[in-house]
Amino acid sequence: MCDGCALCCMHKLEDEDTGEVYYTDVACRLLDIETCRCTDYASRAKRVAECLVLSVDRPETFRWLPASCAYGRLANGKGLPEWHPLISGRPESVHEAGISMLGRSVSENDGVEWRVLQKLGEPDD
Ligand code: SF4
Ligand code: SF4
Repeated sequence: MCDGCALCCMHKLEDEDTGEVYYTDVACRLLDIETCRCTDYASRAKRVAECLVLSVDRPETFRWLPASCAYGRLANGKGLPEWHPLISGRPESVHEAGISMLGRSVSENDGVEWRVLQKLGEPDD
């Protein structure tokens, strides 16, 4: 179901006054920013304590997902968009549609400045 956008692998900032959450363009140290893939998916939860492991048994985890995420969309009764790989039949379509973080992120390993991208929950369509 995952479209491979890697948005959930970006560090986020929460406004402690409003509770609003913003995405940054800084990727988790385990993310391969050239492919938007986790480099150690099997051990991700052990290696990265903040890694968001999604489960229907833990619906609170869905709070952190972007509006484009298929899990959140389906939970809210929406269908999959045309750029979703399960609809297009092509894994690249999520990148071509500009949804993913491919070419737009930096790794936390590189010690670069953080840039805020967008507020969590902003509609994507
Ligand atoms: S935000 Fe959703 S669709 Fe995108 S990588 Fe994370 S789980 Fe997959
Ligand atoms: S450990 Fe892997 S799946 Fe988890 S946030 Fe980091 S790159 Fe993403």
